[in-house]
Amino acid sequence: MNTVYNFCAGPAMLPQPVMRKAQEEFINWQGLGCSVMEISHRSKPFIALADAAERNLRELLSIPQHYSVLFMHGGGRGQFSAVPLNLAEATEHADYLVTGAWSKSAVQEAERFVTPNIVAESCVINGETTLPDQASWQCSDNAAYFHFCTNETVDGVELNVLPDVGDVPLVADMSSTILSRPLDIEKYGVIYAGAQKNIGPSGLSVVIIRNDLLDRARHNTPSVLNYGLAAQNGSMYNTPPTYAWYLAGLVFEWLKEEGGVSAIYSRNKAKAAMLYEGIDATDFYINSIASPYRSIMNVPFQLADPTLDDAFLTQAEENGLMALKGHRSVGGMRASIYNAMPIEGVKALVDFMKEFERKNG
Ligand code: PMP
Repeated sequence: MNTVYNFCAGPAMLPQPVMRKAQEEFINWQGLGCSVMEISHRSKPFIALADAAERNLRELLSIPQHYSVLFMHGGGRGQFSAVPLNLAEATEHADYLVTGAWSKSAVQEAERFVTPNIVAESCVINGETTLPDQASWQCSDNAAYFHFCTNETVDGVELNVLPDVGDVPLVADMSSTILSRPLDIEKYGVIYAGAQKNIGPSGLSVVIIRNDLLDRARHNTPSVLNYGLAAQNGSMYNTPPTYAWYLAGLVFEWLKEEGGVSAIYSRNKAKAAMLYEGIDATDFYINSIASPYRSIMNVPFQLADPTLDDAFLTQAEENGLMALKGHRSVGGMRASIYNAMPIEGVKALVDFMKEFERKNG
């Protein structure tokens, strides 16, 4: 098989060693004579797997003991509903920072359960997407929580500084950035992430929650979205997505072997720098996100001449560069360069971009 580099935003490529191990173990896991997906989640071997996955995630992200780690269903969007149901009463306000498509979707879902207050929205100044200064944000007086998205997968907008919101619990959608860089967990009330970028297959979501926030769920919260119930039951109130959990565990082991989150962060910065340099070196390609907000995980870019888009995508695929089409709402291209993308993949993309420009510029 020729080398293919998959730039899909999610479900995204998983590390090759993880995929190979999963293949080897597929029909005979730990000598049991069957697959890990065919055994009870309450069996000893599965409980051991679940414990190891949590232990490794805690180690990778330095998660303190007064935080719980939950493995839940429903992806990122499931958490758009779980957050207001678990953290606010119907009559309360919750603050939302809108930096792109996903935080906007989170607001729309929250409207069913709480009164969301948009504190600020990203905007375009001098042709660049940026964020208004925090001093101008309109926060509510008594917000039940403050929600934001640390990395906007569609727009390629990433926040490197934390909103300063005093004692209001910070709730972060980290679906497309978790495990890409070190975190100070204690700054957050809740962190959640759909798995299908840096963790494993879709469907699973990981929630990291400060323990004092576990018992606030309103009475009509669906049980499968209830953080307290999930914590009390070791994330097994109902049958968890066991195969996704197993793969997440393999990804955590892989990341530890790669040197952990600090090591992968250095690699991620180098990959992003290489790609942005390639884009900025020419007027043929454009990325219009202001540099402090440029994502190191999702890099959208446009061709100055969009009539070349189709040819770019076709020839990229012929060169083993998959899934570069931008999100339908943005158009152009998007290269998602999560943890599993090797630096060789980014180099291959930048080389292809130069060659394409040489032929068409
Ligand atoms: N938040 C972010 C930042 C995302 O990138 C996505 C999916 N791409 C979601 C939420 C929604 O996740 P899901 O499709 O798993 O519900």
